[in-house]
Amino acid sequence: MYDGIVQELIDEFGRLPGVGPKSAQRITFHILQTPSFDVSRLAELLAEVRNRVRFCEICGNVSEQERCAICRDARRNQTIICVVEDAKDVAAIERTREFRGLYHVLGGSISPIANRGPDDLRITELMGRLADGTVQEVILATNPNLEGEATATYLSRLLTSMSIQVTRLASGLPVGGDLEYADEVTLGRAFEGRRSAI
Ligand SMILES: [Zn+2]
Repeated sequence: MYDGIVQELIDEFGRLPGVGPKSAQRITFHILQTPSFDVSRLAELLAEVRNRVRFCEICGNVSEQERCAICRDARRNQTIICVVEDAKDVAAIERTREFRGLYHVLGGSISPIANRGPDDLRITELMGRLADGTVQEVILATNPNLEGEATATYLSRLLTSMSIQVTRLASGLPVGGDLEYADEVTLGRAFEGRRSAI
């Protein structure tokens, strides 16, 4: 334990996801001991990110405008939508450079344990996007774990009645993990080898 404000800062960093007490202490001391560390720049960015960043009104990705850069890009293939759980997954898939279509961020997965059902996800918004017949294929790229599988199964059942091709990423992704932790090559291959989900 440290005196007053130093401990307060360590505790605050420790509340961030993935930051344990040791890392929180390391970050705090890095800031304390590095005169060149630009504290005001960091403070400014934190405030700005809160103010400026929102979620795209179409796909739910993070964006500084009403529509994200991907939805605004007319060169993207408008006939294919990749459905993911989280905006972090969009970034992971973009890094593979395998996919040039659009995305739809669900905002989570179906999870009885977390008391999260289909109504808590952006499924109505997805159905709305499919209504005009432009979209020919929906890729279900939920996480390769139980909840992600349950969500994909739910969605594929929901989409069977529509004349849309529904595909799943090929196996080979680390089971039980999150999409965002898969390396680019593996994720890229999973895209190329996607198969029909129905
Ligand atoms: Zn968007």
